[in-house]
Amino acid sequence: MADQLQVIRGMHDILPSDMPVWNQLEDEYRALAESYGYRQIRTPIVEKTALFARSIGEVTDIVEKEMYSFADRNGDSLSLRPENTASVVRAGLQAGLLQDQQHRLWYSGPMFRHERPQKGRYRQFHQLGAETFGMPGADIEAELILMAARFWKRLGLEDIELQVNSLGSSACRQAFRAVLVAYFRDHYQSLDDDSRRRLESNPLRILDSKNPEMQLLIEAAPTLQDSLDAESRDHFDELLDILDKTAVPYRVNRRLVRGLDYYCHTVFEWVTETLGAQGTVCGGGRYDGLVEQLGGRPNFAAGFSMGCERLVSMLADQGRARGETGSDVYFVMRGANSVARAQQLAESLRDRLPRLELIVHAGGGSFKSQMRKADRSGARIALILAESEMEAGTVAVKFLREERPQEEVRQNEIATRLSSFLD
Ligand code: ATP
Ligand code: MG
Repeated sequence: MADQLQVIRGMHDILPSDMPVWNQLEDEYRALAESYGYRQIRTPIVEKTALFARSIGEVTDIVEKEMYSFADRNGDSLSLRPENTASVVRAGLQAGLLQDQQHRLWYSGPMFRHERPQKGRYRQFHQLGAETFGMPGADIEAELILMAARFWKRLGLEDIELQVNSLGSSACRQAFRAVLVAYFRDHYQSLDDDSRRRLESNPLRILDSKNPEMQLLIEAAPTLQDSLDAESRDHFDELLDILDKTAVPYRVNRRLVRGLDYYCHTVFEWVTETLGAQGTVCGGGRYDGLVEQLGGRPNFAAGFSMGCERLVSMLADQGRARGETGSDVYFVMRGANSVARAQQLAESLRDRLPRLELIVHAGGGSFKSQMRKADRSGARIALILAESEMEAGTVAVKFLREERPQEEVRQNEIATRLSSFLD
């Protein structure tokens, strides 16, 4: 026998038994986003590498070492998307949607990062996200947060803490940058290699380092708070005011910076203690600089994205995951011509009851083994077409999950009978 091929490390099959909880997440998210007036967008999974280099930044973990990049047949460098924000901006610009217009958009799909696989961290993972354009104020940031809070509520998830911070206007960030560079330069000996490299190019990112040996130094670093100007403080105060008035609990975390270059003003994360080390289930904030950075006229932008695998784990851990449900009906048959007649009756049932979940037995086998399959399918009802039913022009209706006598129903009345049993 040939060697069996295995799925790529860090990637996962989502098997039929896993699908109900995934559908739960995606169905709920679609309904939620649409209820807030967000419209769906889908972009290709592959983009030019330059898109991510320009948006996420050359000196980032993602672009330096996590992207799945490869040469197209004509030599262009392409990458599997590591996140979706840059693609949505690119698509919006290309379609002329981002000039002096407001948009609320949502998306769902797989992302790819060549990280070290561990629980909650994979090489193909899935995100649900939202992006908004054209709105400068804290009101839209609050809306994004309220939408996420409602999502947890609808899913029945508990123990997710909201952390918020302000990075201030880009002028503030510049001022803070200088303070930070001075601080880390004073502690140059204690910096790891990554941080040394980032000291000049992107010092804010040092604060986002996951290296445990860097944590003390990072904790003692100056905070952005002291660099915020009046306008940035007002912006942040307005956000907190809305969160207070809509009763969304939060914690201001002055150490919170987002890994990506294009954030300003508000950044937020939803974090849980219940998942172990990979506890961030949603991250977002304002990224006003990005549209211009990708070649458009400056435009306001804010959004978030959530990690589906982490939410699926939480749903399972907290007993909130939707389980598999059986079909409604399993059709078994026996005797001459019964196979074709069963298919015929099943098709007419499907005409009459388009939502009926009906499995027609296939593959032959004894009556007993067919009934075993009917039982294992989880169906509530078995329809039986054997010799006596063929002769009488009826079908037997057998209840598999309840104490209830079997019924003989005329073949032209099954649809009506089934619809009364099933609602
Ligand atoms: P982390 O700090 O956990 O690496 P991040 O800041 O890199 O997260 P984002 O780029 O903001 O993550 O992505 C948003 C969300 O997507 C994260 O909060 C997380 O839930 C999820 N996510 C990110 N990377 C992965 C991954 N490799 N595997 C599974 N989920 C992920
Ligand atoms: Mg990361």
